[in-house]
Amino acid sequence: MKKILLILSIFTAVSACKVNPFTGQKTLNFYPNSQIFPMAFAQYDQFLGENDVVNGTSEAHMITRVGQRISSAAERWLAANGYPGYLNDYKWEYNLVKDETVNAWCMPGGKIVFYTGILPICQGETGVAVVMGHEVAHALADHGAQRMSAGTLQQIGAVAGNIAIQDPEKRNMFNQAYGIGSQLGVMLPFSRGHETEADRIGLQIMAIAGYNPYEAAELWKRMKAQSGGQSPPEFMSTHPSNDTRINNLTAWAPEAAAEAAKFGVTNFK
Ligand SMILES: [Zn+2]
Repeated sequence: MKKILLILSIFTAVSACKVNPFTGQKTLNFYPNSQIFPMAFAQYDQFLGENDVVNGTSEAHMITRVGQRISSAAERWLAANGYPGYLNDYKWEYNLVKDETVNAWCMPGGKIVFYTGILPICQGETGVAVVMGHEVAHALADHGAQRMSAGTLQQIGAVAGNIAIQDPEKRNMFNQAYGIGSQLGVMLPFSRGHETEADRIGLQIMAIAGYNPYEAAELWKRMKAQSGGQSPPEFMSTHPSNDTRINNLTAWAPEAAAEAAKFGVTNFK
């Protein structure tokens, strides 16, 4: 009986998957926006309340300006490709937070944070657009919800093993092996896949927004130089190596420029 329930829950999970409009592929996501977004919005507000948000400076204005241009480019792309209303539940917000960490992130539903620490590497508006395109792309592709879905499946798999294995000692061994195995074998490549997808989608929407897609690889070269070879080997990391990223972005830039031309954008800043 438990096994039947398990199979049923996996079946429900997989059949509820949405299609990613940018890749046309089914995604592992069985949480509706209505369940995820309010949680994300509350977490985002809490984060802003507990951190040093920069307001009113030219840099803060730049983050908002670039964010609005990129999300409106995404909206145009979605409308032109048969997905009007896709962003109805999104509540875009772009904040700059005073923190030396070299990072930016996005929560489901379009809640974005840039740390001031990433600005010297961005070197201005086009660099910000590279990072913003990537973060907006994560939000569009529901990567946060997919990660939660994968986490749930990972737990379901662990439960299945514990039901199947009677001997406690073997069960402990299973739990250890499963925890490590599913982390390295499934969750990390899954995240790396998301990163690569966000790089590709991000490049297209930054180009549609009028930013030079050929600058994206340049930003990652600066990122590589700044990290001084400190990044972990690729298979251990949720992020592709800098070299993989630079090669991909260089190869995809013409495709992004061609996509922008469809929207009448041929001159980039
Ligand atoms: Zn990312």
